[in-house]
Amino acid sequence: IGDALRAAAAAAPDHRAVVEGSPGPGPLRTLTYAELLARSEEVARALLGRFRPGEHVAVWSPNSLEWILLEYGAALAGLVLVTANPAYQAGELAYVLGRSRSAGLFHVASHRGNPMTEIVAEVRGDLPDLREVVDLAELEAFTAGGDPATPLPEVRPHDRVQIQYTSGTTGFPKGVLLRHHGLLENARLTLERMGVGPADTLVWPMPLFHTAGCGMGVLGAAATGATIVYLTAFDPARQLELIEAERATISGGVPTMLVAMLAHPDAGTRDTSSLRCLFAGGSPVPVEVAREVERRLGGRVSIVFGTTETSPIITATSPDDPEDVRTGTLGEPLPHTDVKIADPVTGEPVPVGEVGELCARGYLVMEGYYDQPEATAAVLDVAGWYHTGDLASLDAQGRLRVEGRIKDMIIRGGENIYPREIEEILQAHPGIAEVAVVGRPDPHWGETVAAFVRPVTGAEPRPEELHAWCRERLAAYKTPASWHLVDEMPVTASGKIRKNELRERLL
Ligand code: ATP
Repeated sequence: IGDALRAAAAAAPDHRAVVEGSPGPGPLRTLTYAELLARSEEVARALLGRFRPGEHVAVWSPNSLEWILLEYGAALAGLVLVTANPAYQAGELAYVLGRSRSAGLFHVASHRGNPMTEIVAEVRGDLPDLREVVDLAELEAFTAGGDPATPLPEVRPHDRVQIQYTSGTTGFPKGVLLRHHGLLENARLTLERMGVGPADTLVWPMPLFHTAGCGMGVLGAAATGATIVYLTAFDPARQLELIEAERATISGGVPTMLVAMLAHPDAGTRDTSSLRCLFAGGSPVPVEVAREVERRLGGRVSIVFGTTETSPIITATSPDDPEDVRTGTLGEPLPHTDVKIADPVTGEPVPVGEVGELCARGYLVMEGYYDQPEATAAVLDVAGWYHTGDLASLDAQGRLRVEGRIKDMIIRGGENIYPREIEEILQAHPGIAEVAVVGRPDPHWGETVAAFVRPVTGAEPRPEELHAWCRERLAAYKTPASWHLVDEMPVTASGKIRKNELRERLL
């Protein structure tokens, strides 16, 4: 990662590298590639005054320039950055710092009313490994304490670079160990599939603590020589404003973000004609949403599919192949990425077109879950395959289609039902803004289909009407047996619908 930054700075020292798209008026904080490299090296030297290469330091902060300097500084210093979600409360923070044995913590004073300094003081006593706590507002003072003569260590491609805790939609967070080569090259290959190069400006709404933020966005920009303008927090109006102001060529988000942008009144007034490509992924992207994005915001959609454990992207559609998006495929695997669809019981590949568990192999795959050998053995097999837990198929052209997570599959009276299919059909209903389909325990059928629906503002779709809409397009057994209108979907920090929470509401 350090080498990639050095190469970008050598190739175009005065080119804008990162721009902070902070809300409100005033100039945006900007660093050129030369400045980004110089500042990151200073941070690295200061870090080496307090920590040894290989040690873990955590960052607990919303998106900021300091976050990115710490990311590069830690990478240059050979440290492992533990990326904590700024939405964590005391218990979650203590869990992540304790499990990761973090020796340092960089945080902000408060975030959305969360008194972070107080929380740190509260949990610190229970964390014997935690030696240093630094407020990111003091990063400059911290950096000034570094010795300019400190040599930077040699860092190798397969060295560990980050531990990211999965958001926990499938249980307690696990620390995904990522390596320099995997995180950097995955970011490069993903953006290259979108045709990104030095002339591109990215407007990025993703949280930095996630691979789609600090990897695909930040490292992808450096690897391709592009400029990244990141949002300090997701805000649909701000994203549209920055796309217009920066003449962005690339943007995107998880489906909930894209839906929020489309629903915002500014979507009709901002000039987004500079956009060439918008990525969409992180959770199923309804074909209808992808089409609306292309129609209303311009540019082509590139659907990306991945998991934190795979740095993150496994497959992506190319904007040059728009048919993929319309037919609902997730594109072909990235270069250097092996994919197999395995029988969930035997692990053997299933015939072309059949559904099985998606497995991925290559340098994109994590080293394992930090200090959790059993959890690691449950998903990484001896042949190096990572078992994603997703049900998927590959067509004759090698394009992926994902049905959903194994645990989200609904089994009604022995029939397998994939929520995705039903969600796609409901998403096309004009009165529906967002939908999530889950299984509801049932004494007779085992499970029945339940649909949570967030109507578009002003619409009040009646269950009978939605039922009729489904019955025209779906077999009776797949048609939801219960309807739940909601004002808001429960989502994770990265904007994914928490289906486990919806399932709990049905108990
Ligand atoms: P946890 O792993 O704890 O459940 P999480 O869901 O946030 O948390 P991620 O690694 O961010 O973890 O999510 C990976 C999952 O997201 C994939 O396994 C897949 O189910 C889903 N996903 C990602 N991109 C897409 C996509 N384009 N279409 C459908 N599903 C997707």
